Amino acid sequence: AIEAALRLAVAEEQFELHFQPQVALPAGRLTGFEALIRWRHPLRGLLSPALFLPVAERLGLMRRIGGWVLREACHVAASWPGGLQVAVNISPCQFEDGALPATVATALEESGLPAHRLELEVTETVLLASGDSALVQLQALRDRGVGIAMDDFGTGHSSLTQLRVFPFDRLKIDRSFVKDLPAGDDAMAIMRAVTGLGRSLGIAVTAEGVETEAQLRALLAEGCDAAQGYLFGRPVPGCQVPAVIAAL
Ligand code: C2E
Ligand code: MG
Ligand code: MG
Repeated sequence: AIEAALRLAVAEEQFELHFQPQVALPAGRLTGFEALIRWRHPLRGLLSPALFLPVAERLGLMRRIGGWVLREACHVAASWPGGLQVAVNISPCQFEDGALPATVATALEESGLPAHRLELEVTETVLLASGDSALVQLQALRDRGVGIAMDDFGTGHSSLTQLRVFPFDRLKIDRSFVKDLPAGDDAMAIMRAVTGLGRSLGIAVTAEGVETEAQLRALLAEGCDAAQGYLFGRPVPGCQVPAVIAAL
């Protein structure tokens, strides 16, 4: 049933993007938004990506969905005040046919969004699964001026190795590490190590899932560059972005 419904959803574009603010520290200045997909299911309402993206990947629908996400995110972001960025999550299968740079180029050209206002978020599995081809595509995108961030940093098996393989512009420290700040000694140690690593390598570091003032204080004490989380704002539909821009 899910399979049939999902195929129909792709055909009818029953998806929407929500946008979560990203801020620069220490001041908390708004720098942009991460685009997060939702499925507006005709009967079940709004479904989160964890529920349907794994199925979409298995059915080979992810390239079409990912292409839609790129076009839609660039289109919406082009209307935001200059300087604000949009971050788009890219799934490993979007690297399989080697066409990601072309897909991104088309999305940028059709929307008029300058390349430096787009950042792609990939997880380290991309470089593990798709190897050299993914590397070549990421390099081409970066040469064009698109930012490349490593998402969920620290959760995989070879995060550090990946840093030597590709010059990422940003590391996003996974929420699982932020969650236990500031009480957890190990969480503090890991946060300190990652912010130090970013500083030494000249890579910006964003903390994901910041929910409390106490977590923010711990991040500020370590000189973390940027943050994202419910403390600053939940994901909102595109039409509510102007209100968030006005408020933050
Ligand atoms: P992600 O890229 O790591 O995105 C962050 C997730 O954490 C989002 O969940 C966001 O709503 C949630 N989050 C943000 N701040 C907080 C917080 O303070 N507390 C808590 N508890 N959660 C927070 P969401 O939207 O359900 O997305 C889940 C994952 O699905 C994303 O993780 C990303 O890996 C994937 N995803 C979402 N949209 C897309 C897309 O368009 N394409 C691809 N390939 N993957 C996507
Ligand atoms: Mg992400
Ligand atoms: Mg993440």
